[in-house]
Amino acid sequence: MSTGPQKYPGASTAQWWQSRWGGDPMEVNTIVWHSTEGTGLPDYAGGSAAPNFTALPDFDAQRLTWYQHFDFDISSRALVNKPGGVETNTLNVCQVEIVGTCDPAAHGKWTARHLYTPELPDWALRDLAAFAKWAHDEHGVPLTGDVVFKAYPASYGANGVRMGAAKWNAFRGHCGHQHVPENDHGDPGLLPMAAILARAAETAPAAP
Ligand SMILES: [Zn+2]
Repeated sequence: MSTGPQKYPGASTAQWWQSRWGGDPMEVNTIVWHSTEGTGLPDYAGGSAAPNFTALPDFDAQRLTWYQHFDFDISSRALVNKPGGVETNTLNVCQVEIVGTCDPAAHGKWTARHLYTPELPDWALRDLAAFAKWAHDEHGVPLTGDVVFKAYPASYGANGVRMGAAKWNAFRGHCGHQHVPENDHGDPGLLPMAAILARAAETAPAAP
């Protein structure tokens, strides 16, 4: 289990939570995207609700700074998992939190520089695509995802795009917190997933 490189090149392990929280070995075939709804690197309640990765914008350098909290193929903790039903955090998913907001109300109010997921700058798309390409090339995560991303707040709760158990259990590729069963969060809103995946595919090697 847990084949392939486990550390994303260049990611900081300054907030490494795996030694405290363990996690289950998996063979990841799905990326679940989140937005933190804040502007700084979160503590995730001492790591108890941490994802595998956090992508923090560096506006001056126009790049994303990556933090890694768990190995790629070790389960992380940013999803709700209710007793019974389906597995969530441990169902071969790697989770990424983008530091920023999907909420138009927060976007309109915040005075600090921040990422707004429906309107990401090109350099953020570039760096998110680079991560998707790495997950594809090194771990075989498909550069696809048969889901529709909805804008927040319509993406909250029973949003019409959240997967049922059968679809979730069979899912491979890229989706958002708003698509995961047993969860009600609506992040990452209208993330331009198709554009990110298309960009990743442009630079991915052709299938043999
Ligand atoms: Zn989330």
